[in-house]
This record gives sequence, C-alpha cells and structure tokens, in this order.
Amino acid sequence: MTNARPSTPPPSNEPVRAYAPGSDARAALQQRLRELRGQRVDVPAIIGGEAVFTGATTEMVVPHEHSHVLGEFHHAGADEVAQAIDAAQAAKGEWAAMDFADRAAIFLRAADLLAGPWRDTLNAATMLGQSKNAHQAEIDAACELIDFFRFNVHYAEQLYAEQPNSPGAAWNQMQYRPLEGFVLAVTPFNFTSIQGNLPTAPALMGNTVLWKPSERATYAAYFLYKLLEEAGLPDGVINFLPAENGADVGDPALASEHFAGLHFTGSAGTFNHLWSSIGERLPTYRTYPTIVGETGGKDFIVAHASADVDAVATAIVRGSFEYQGQKCSASSRLYMPASIWPEIRAEVAAQLDTITTGPPEDFTNFVNAVIDQRAFDEITAYIDAAAASDDAEIIMGGAYDDSDGYFIEPTVIQAHDPHYATMEEEIFGPVTTVYVYPDDDFAGTLDLVDETSPYALTGAIFARDRAVIRQAMDRLEQAAGNFYINDKPTGAVVGQQPFGGARRSGTNDKAGSWLNLVRWVSPRAIKETFTPATHYSYPWNAPDAA
Ligand code: NAD
Repeated sequence: MTNARPSTPPPSNEPVRAYAPGSDARAALQQRLRELRGQRVDVPAIIGGEAVFTGATTEMVVPHEHSHVLGEFHHAGADEVAQAIDAAQAAKGEWAAMDFADRAAIFLRAADLLAGPWRDTLNAATMLGQSKNAHQAEIDAACELIDFFRFNVHYAEQLYAEQPNSPGAAWNQMQYRPLEGFVLAVTPFNFTSIQGNLPTAPALMGNTVLWKPSERATYAAYFLYKLLEEAGLPDGVINFLPAENGADVGDPALASEHFAGLHFTGSAGTFNHLWSSIGERLPTYRTYPTIVGETGGKDFIVAHASADVDAVATAIVRGSFEYQGQKCSASSRLYMPASIWPEIRAEVAAQLDTITTGPPEDFTNFVNAVIDQRAFDEITAYIDAAAASDDAEIIMGGAYDDSDGYFIEPTVIQAHDPHYATMEEEIFGPVTTVYVYPDDDFAGTLDLVDETSPYALTGAIFARDRAVIRQAMDRLEQAAGNFYINDKPTGAVVGQQPFGGARRSGTNDKAGSWLNLVRWVSPRAIKETFTPATHYSYPWNAPDAA
C-alpha cells in the first residue's frame, strides 16, 4: 500500500478539433460515421455490470433520416430498478472506501480514452443519434465531457482539502461522506456531455448511481457507458436503465427508502413533477434527499443603440440556430433598438442566406434535424401560429419538411406584442423572436426583459457604451445565471463559465464546478482531543478568595 498523497494533474480545457477538409481528423470521423451507420446495436439495461435484455424495446433512429434504424434499446421497469438499487447499495461500501486517487484515476482515464481512441465513436454516435454537426458534436461529446471529467477531479481534490481550524489541543477534521443511499441521475437528450456528467459527478464523490438516459438519445449514452466500463468503473457504481417512459424508472426509484439524491437536467415541467413526487414521499426516506435540477431557458439578447451591428447579428445566428436552437442557453428572445435594427436584420438575413440545412454527414450543413417527431410538431405549431397571428410575423425562414428527416429552417419571428407567446415560452428549436423597441426606452426594455419570462438561465447585452453595460448588468442581476457582455449567450466552457440559472431554470448548482460536487457529499465534522478533561469543574466555579 503506497503512502503517497498524490496531487491530481492540473486540468486545462480540451482543444477543439477543426475537422478541416483534407485533415486526418475529418477522415477518421467520416470513417467512424460509415462504420456506425453500417451496424445495429442492441442496447440492454446494465445492472451491477450485467447486461439485461428485457425484450420490451424501442427503435433508435437517425433524426435526419428517420427510416435509418441505429438499433434498439431494452426498457427497464420496476423489476430492473429494484435490482439496480440492490446493485448500487452492494457496490457502495467498497466504492466509497476506495482511495480518492483510485476513483480519480478512473475518471482521468475516461477523459484520456475520450480524448483519444473513443473520440470518433462518441462524436459519430452523437452526430447520428442526435443530429449534431461535427463541430457541435466535438464541443459537446468530446471536449465538454473530457473537461467535466478532468475539472471535476480537480475540484473534488480541492473540496476534500477544505478542512476546519485546529487551534488548541484538538485536531478537527471534515470528512466528506457520500450521501447515504443512491443517487438517481435523469438526463436530457441535447448534450452527450450532460448525459455523462450527471451520473459521474456524484460517482466521483463516492456515491453509487441509477442512471436513466434520455429515451431520445440512448444511442450515444450507451457508448458512453461502455467507455466508463473500459476506464475501469466497478460494476454497480453506475447502473444504466434505459426506458421509453421516464416514469417507468423514476417512479420505482423515488419510491425507495434508499433514494438520497436527484441529479436532473431537462424541462422544468419534468423537474416540477419529480420534486413534487419526492415531496409527497419525504417521510418515507431515510435521509432528506439532495435535489439538483437544471431546467429550461428563455434566453435573451438585448442590443443597445451603441452596439456593433455585425457582432449582434452573428450572436443572433450562432446563439439561436446552432444545434437547431436545441440548447437550454439558445437565444430565443431578442430586444433590438429601432435605430440599428434595419442593419442588424439585413446582416442576419445575409448570414442565414448562406446557411444550409441537412444531414450532418455532409459537413457543409450548418443546421441539421431536430430530435424527433414530437419536437418537430411542437416547434412547427409555433411557426404556424405566428404565420396566422396579427401580433407577429415571420420575417425569415419558416419552411419545414419531415418527409426524410425532421428539418426546420432557421426562423425569425417579429413580435409586435412583447408578450407574444414566442417571446415567453421555451420552444427548443430553430426559432427566435425579435421585439423592436424605441431607442429612448432602453430602461423600460430592461424591465421588460427581467419581467417577461419565468426562466433565468442565460442572457446577453450588446453595447459599446460602458455605462449602459453597467446599467444592464445591474437591472438584469436576477434575470440570468450566466450573463454575457458582447458575446452570444451559448457555449459555456467548463472551468471558465460554470453553468446554471435560477428562477424556473433550476437550482443553479453550476455543473462542472465545486458548487455542484458539494451537493453530493454529506459532511461529517470530527473532533479528536489529545488530552481530554478529567474532571467536570471549571475555574469560574470555584469560590472567591476570603
Ligand atoms: P425532458 O424533461 O423531456 O426529459 C428529461 C429527462 O427526464 C429524460 O430522460 C426523460 O425520460 C426524463 N423523465 C421524464 N419524465 C420522467 C419521470 N416521471 N421520471 C423520471 N424521469 C422522467 O427534457 P428533454 O427534452 O430531454 O431536454 C430538453 C430540456 O432540457 C429543455 O427544457 C432544456 O432547456 C433543458 N436543458 C437544460 C439544461 C440546463 O443546464 N439548464 C441543459 C440541457 C437541457
């Protein structure tokens, strides 16, 4: 047994590969895309390291070519959840007792496997299963997840090192115990990195986990599980439970007395439901559960008349339409001053004219398909309603076609009423809405921005006037957990802009930072006295001298 107390390697952000024409990286990714397209995978539940094929299955299809089946996944239900809870509880003792250096090494190895031999597989799976272009897959499935693994190890080490004072004849320690019970990780479709982070962050802190991957992105999630297995994650630490209906896993998991924490990312509606279910069952749990949930957004860009027109237009195009607007941080309400709006509008239109929508296997397509038929129907209903409304008009895009894949053209709606539905509701697609305000009502517009939406996730101010930037930062203090000055409101980087928002956007526990990891421990304060008192009496208790 070594007596070393090793420091973990200092993390730095994984460089983003360019995939330029003629590069080896592009050729390798294209080759992996062809290989995966040529195979079908049968995805089981994985409980205590054992594959469980339940026989009740759902097909996984390519969103941009829905006739192409990638494979099928087997549904977990109440029986599998019960087995997974047993497996998680059985694995817990050894995992929690494992030296942190060993737990850390497993996730550092996962980072290196993903940066190297597994990179093309995770990127290609994300491109095929979630319709991301090469760049969007690279910044998500590769870089962000590698960063989560490496930075979380670093933050965990810092957290464990945080110890109380020991001023006298006692030695005080803080033990960072994992939660008593299992953590349920419930993940969204839109980021492979989030699917990876939600089960692994609690696991790094010594917890064991039931992971319910998104039924809309189980394909990449399965490859991710296999990567963790190769990295050396012991059986039962993370139990993989795919399901077509989230409740089939959620309900029995929340019904267990051993449920100790929820790590959720998804819509506010689902989170509200889960929190209410937990509240109803509270007396049945052995411990008050930790609840961490990052939810939706209605993210804004506000431009001031002093803003740089091309910078605003570019932020609108990238912020609203990259990954088809299916980012919780996507800009979906725009407040533009009347004086420069005609120029911004012309530049957005000119940039959108050069964008093509189509399959990500063709690297020239900037915009790909939305995730599935349900999303397609929900998003296009907003477009149809805007086309028919007197309060709004479609000024760019608006076309859609689901005959081969779920394609929706980048669409800009102009709202004449700042409370028109698409200024207020999360659409989660390539649709953004602009409201043009009179230049002399900038202060009133900031009030509008703050009060329009129940969400408070991301937002951006564009201005060159420094006093205006300060005014917006102050007035919009509670309107966004991630605030951007002269930059688009998407693209947060682990270790640089820890991510999360408040109000209806979640518990704001900042994924990829110590603030998140601290939620997965239950600290125990320990005092050891070296020379204990041997009698109860104190000097103050003695009588005054005569
Ligand atoms: P969703 O709410 O439809 O689903 C999220 C997960 O919850 C899925 O795995 C689903 O199966 C599961 N689920 C649903 N009902 C359940 C139940 N009763 N019990 C257990 N699990 C259940 O969300 P989605 O469509 O996958 O993701 C998009 C949403 O996620 C958007 O609202 C987006 O803004 C949000 N999001 C937020 C962040 C953030 O950091 N704030 C990041 C990414 C996505």
